[in-house]
Amino acid sequence: MSGPASPGAGAVLTIDLGAIVANWRLLKSRVGRADCAAVLKADAYGLGAAQVGPALAAAGCRQFFVAHLDEAIALKPMLPRDATVSVLHGPLPGSEAEFVAHGLRPVLNSRAQLDAWRALAHRLDRELGAIVQVDTGMARLGLDERELRALADDREAFVGLRVELVMSHLACADEQAHPANAAQLERFVAARRRLPPAPASLANSSGIFLGSSHHFELVRPGAALYGLAPVAGAPNPMRPVVRLQARVIQVRELPAGTPVGYGHAWTSERPSRIATASVGYADGWLRRLGGRASVWAGDVELPIVGRVSMDTVTIDATALPAGALAAGDAVDLIGPNGDVDHVAAQAGTIGYEMLTRLGRRFERIYGGAAGASLP
Ligand SMILES: *Cc1c(COP(=O)(O)O)cnc(C)c1O
Repeated sequence: MSGPASPGAGAVLTIDLGAIVANWRLLKSRVGRADCAAVLKADAYGLGAAQVGPALAAAGCRQFFVAHLDEAIALKPMLPRDATVSVLHGPLPGSEAEFVAHGLRPVLNSRAQLDAWRALAHRLDRELGAIVQVDTGMARLGLDERELRALADDREAFVGLRVELVMSHLACADEQAHPANAAQLERFVAARRRLPPAPASLANSSGIFLGSSHHFELVRPGAALYGLAPVAGAPNPMRPVVRLQARVIQVRELPAGTPVGYGHAWTSERPSRIATASVGYADGWLRRLGGRASVWAGDVELPIVGRVSMDTVTIDATALPAGALAAGDAVDLIGPNGDVDHVAAQAGTIGYEMLTRLGRRFERIYGGAAGASLP
């Protein structure tokens, strides 16, 4: 499936579409009769909505979520005609007609969005479908308590609209014992009673692992599809999806006492072999990783020393024999020995941020189950 790695790129990101499909199937198998959507916002968490969307559609996924209208407009034509693309942010004022023109489904997050969508249905003299989101305890998007109460007294509010789904979003689902998980569930059940009858959706990736109480008719995983661990502190049941490899540009032998890189932030304490590799913070290899993360040459761990530059990192390769690592060779930054969550933790962030920042300069190889790697 993969073409040969191009020597023009400093680093290669291998994305295993087979693993993404396997992860979707695993999640689907955990939710019984509920349907399993796929969240493809932010270009499928940086991995390429144009590749991930059709791969999941081929596996049978028919419900897709993105954040922005423009993301949805780009994604829709790549999917089968019967696939639904929903826009989490809903229509910004004045954009309602675009949703109709492109056959997209808005998530209505406020009374204002609801009213504007109903006004359009009235103007077009046709019924329009929509998702209604309620805020059950995150204070980010969705109808709040006051809006829900007002709606329950307003029989006209949904005239001309077809509520296809009622949804909410969990704030603390990755911490299974967090009391917010039960509190949000309770508010969600109560909120549904005040809205037109419709299927419901509450769970993101982590929410799926809270059990069937949180599944309703549809679950909306993102992160777990891309291999991130859905449950904090527990073994990760998802298949790894990405591998990041960078090429070595040069290797030098340094005497003890030689400062390396910007700010002379690291100095060799012994004679050292330093390899400079072609990845940096401009590629999403975060500056915070300097002095914290490692790369791997096969199974040998080599620490990144000194600061991360825009385009390069410096690696202490003293553990390898002279000549074992040479210009053009590849080292692993994310791969079998360290996954995205692990590297993210070293940078003081989460896998979601690490993934969505992975760079635009990489050569990207989309592989099947076996993946692909640099020679
Ligand atoms: C991003 C998002 C999801 C997916 O969440 P993951 O934690 O990545 O599974 C689901 N629903 C909403 C509303 C979201 O914003």
